[in-house]
Amino acid sequence: MVERVFEKKVLQIIKKYRLASKKDKVLVALSGGKDSTSVLYILKKAGFDVSALMIDLHLGLWSEKHKKNMTGFCDELEVNLHVVDLRKELGSGICFIKQVVKEKKNLSGCTVCGVIKKWILNKYAKKLKATKLATGHNLDDEAQTVLMNFLKGNLYLGVGSKPATGRIQENEKKFVQRIKPLFFMPEEEIREYSKKMNFPVLYEKCPCAFGTYRIETREWMRDLNLTSKQKLKIVEGFQKLIPNLEKKEKGKRELRECKICGEPASHEVCNACCILSCLKEM
Ligand code: SF4
Ligand code: ZN
Repeated sequence: MVERVFEKKVLQIIKKYRLASKKDKVLVALSGGKDSTSVLYILKKAGFDVSALMIDLHLGLWSEKHKKNMTGFCDELEVNLHVVDLRKELGSGICFIKQVVKEKKNLSGCTVCGVIKKWILNKYAKKLKATKLATGHNLDDEAQTVLMNFLKGNLYLGVGSKPATGRIQENEKKFVQRIKPLFFMPEEEIREYSKKMNFPVLYEKCPCAFGTYRIETREWMRDLNLTSKQKLKIVEGFQKLIPNLEKKEKGKRELRECKICGEPASHEVCNACCILSCLKEM
């Protein structure tokens, strides 16, 4: 059956890249879309110790539907679901935050949202004592990242784009290691699997997904009509370059602790606190 073949491939990625073991406490960053939902289901079915974390971004009906779907799904799977309410956490929903930051810092919407989500996920993964944080990034996302960085003329930006990010020993206290079990799985196959499994997910894109470089790259890639094999070549080709890029970058990016929140940062203040400082000035 196609579904079993798909699950087997994902479990092979987990094994080959040692993404997680049965001793790990895996927290799945659940968006309510097909990718992270598939990750959660496959990990749970394979007997991993999993729980899920969802950020309620307050994107109107879209967020409401996701929350309702995932609450039911996790109940059925008997998985503990933690919901972080952005309004309670930061005082505003993502639309307001994005608007303020756009005016004050001229940063695009998805960049702001991405930074905030990453910050919350790492903070809560530590709080919940997770040893791994699993995300739903797939082969198409990774191929986009490589091409996007290439077009920006800075491949170094993708140095951290691996099936498992960061070396555990180095960043143990600061970062919960992020793992991407769908790293080599094409989006098309994930959609097919999710539909066959009747997962209660929304297939529409986020209503706020527009006007970013990643989205432009995604559309450009769609026009190129790349096959899954070609996307795999792009991603695998870049993976081979990473050790050399890392050598050249060594010592240049020192990881510090943000002086405001204590989360990992490459400057005195982390990106999330920089963004959030705009809200305080209101
Ligand atoms: Fe946030 Fe952009 Fe993703 Fe929507 S598409 S959830 S705004 S990062
Ligand atoms: Zn900070």
